[in-house]
Amino acid sequence: MDFLRLRHSRWLRWLSLNSCLAIAYAWTAEISLIFTTLPGTVASVWLPSGLTLGLILLFGNQILPSIALGSLWVISFDLIERDPNISLHAFVWVNFGCIAGNLVQPLLARFILKKYAQNRYFFNQVRGVLTYITAATISPMASAFIGVTSVVFAGRMEWEHYGLNWFTWWLASTLAHLIFTPVILLGKDFFSRKIPYHVVEAVLILAIFIGVSWSIFIQSYPVAYLLLLILNWTVFRYGAFVSSLLVSIVSLLAIYTTAHGLGVFVLESQNQSLLFLQSFMGVFALSSLLLSAAVEERSRAQSSLKKALDNSTKLVLERTKELRRSEALLRQTNQELQKLVHLDGLTQIANRRCFNQRLTAEWHRLYREQKPLALILFDVDYFKRYNDFYGHQQGDECLIQIAQSVKHILKRPADLVARYGGEEFVVVLPNTTQEGATIVAKRIRRTILDLRIAHNATETGEAIVTVSLGVVSGIPQGQEKPLTFVQKADQALYLAKQQGRNRIVVAGESELPRLP
Ligand code: GH3
Ligand code: MG
Ligand code: MG
Repeated sequence: MDFLRLRHSRWLRWLSLNSCLAIAYAWTAEISLIFTTLPGTVASVWLPSGLTLGLILLFGNQILPSIALGSLWVISFDLIERDPNISLHAFVWVNFGCIAGNLVQPLLARFILKKYAQNRYFFNQVRGVLTYITAATISPMASAFIGVTSVVFAGRMEWEHYGLNWFTWWLASTLAHLIFTPVILLGKDFFSRKIPYHVVEAVLILAIFIGVSWSIFIQSYPVAYLLLLILNWTVFRYGAFVSSLLVSIVSLLAIYTTAHGLGVFVLESQNQSLLFLQSFMGVFALSSLLLSAAVEERSRAQSSLKKALDNSTKLVLERTKELRRSEALLRQTNQELQKLVHLDGLTQIANRRCFNQRLTAEWHRLYREQKPLALILFDVDYFKRYNDFYGHQQGDECLIQIAQSVKHILKRPADLVARYGGEEFVVVLPNTTQEGATIVAKRIRRTILDLRIAHNATETGEAIVTVSLGVVSGIPQGQEKPLTFVQKADQALYLAKQQGRNRIVVAGESELPRLP
């Protein structure tokens, strides 16, 4: 049921569309005869041709019946009006030929456009417009041939008038294609587009247009070229549709005023006037179409260039941002890595590697400056026993506590405490004399005592964790190696252990190794 209703409504729509268009066809034919015809001549512009091409491109083959019907109507009336006693044979022949011509014309034009125009928006590119002009010019040749030949065969015209009639048919249809079809085709998209529109400017253009038209078509001043100025203005500001509308209005004005003996196109003979008028309209229409297409092409190229530029700028910005982000990440990772490389995993103070680097660097610096460098090497007393007594895990905790406490008592930024290995720690004190280093060593010993970490297995007196410290200080000399400095501190520590632990032994300055 629904299906039937759908088909029914589709058929109704088709019927009403074709009826309306057939009426429109007949009506435009009437307008052509009344308004575009100079007295004693044929129509200078055959408006129905403009209509049929526009409609077939918009609606497709479904409107072909309206062209046939409209043609039949117009031609039949015309034939009967001219000769009420026309023979049936002639009537049928002329109708058949002209209807065939009127159908072939838009079909051929559409065929050329489909085959040679790259896309269906042929008015916005010069190549497309050139194809359109070709189709608009060639297709009426075929229709003029079919139509005029049929008129001759029907016995309604002498062969000697064939050429002129063919030319007139061709030119009138071509002009309609060039002047009016663009209005139909471009009008379809015009209202969906946003056009920069200024009231003052529009009024100004209109006023100038009226003034110039009045001068040309009423006052007969030979200033038709001024219309080109207005055409350029509208093309650049409002695009193809408005300019083709302007061309149509100017053409109708030119024909109407000329037909009434007014304006610059009135010449000695009507035929001269007609030719002059038609060439003016043709040139005007061609200029409008080509110029509009060129302007459209330019603005399209500009906007795509801008888009590409915007895109690449955006891309560059995004990439730069990404780069910065990964740079920061890399820096952070690097810093963390550096930290890890130089950090002791258990006690979270500097490790042996860090100590070695710092010692070498300070050694060389202080050698240059000839300033003292001090080292304190300290070792937890009886730590093996501690581990055995309290367990390895508690031993770890003890080491962490010692390391962190010593770290916090070092005041100068250049001072460094590092884990030298096992339960042995080392402190680097740049610019520090033996006296200064001894004070720091005492402070370290006291701090660890103050921690009062229970150590029941010790033999150093009180049952708490104690350390023994070896101190060395001196100004780096000649080609000495930092390692010999460490050995000296180690010797002092060894002495401290020997002497009973929980004490400080300072290596005498004179004992510092000197290399030649
Ligand atoms: P001394 O007073 O002569 O220094 O005696 P000591 O027992 O402290 O010295 P020894 O060198 O004999 O033993 C050191 C012990 O330190 C051996 C090991 O059990 C312990 N130790 C070394 N590194 C670690 C560690 O990372 N964690 C724990 N818990 N113990 C450690
Ligand atoms: Mg020890
Ligand atoms: Mg040890």
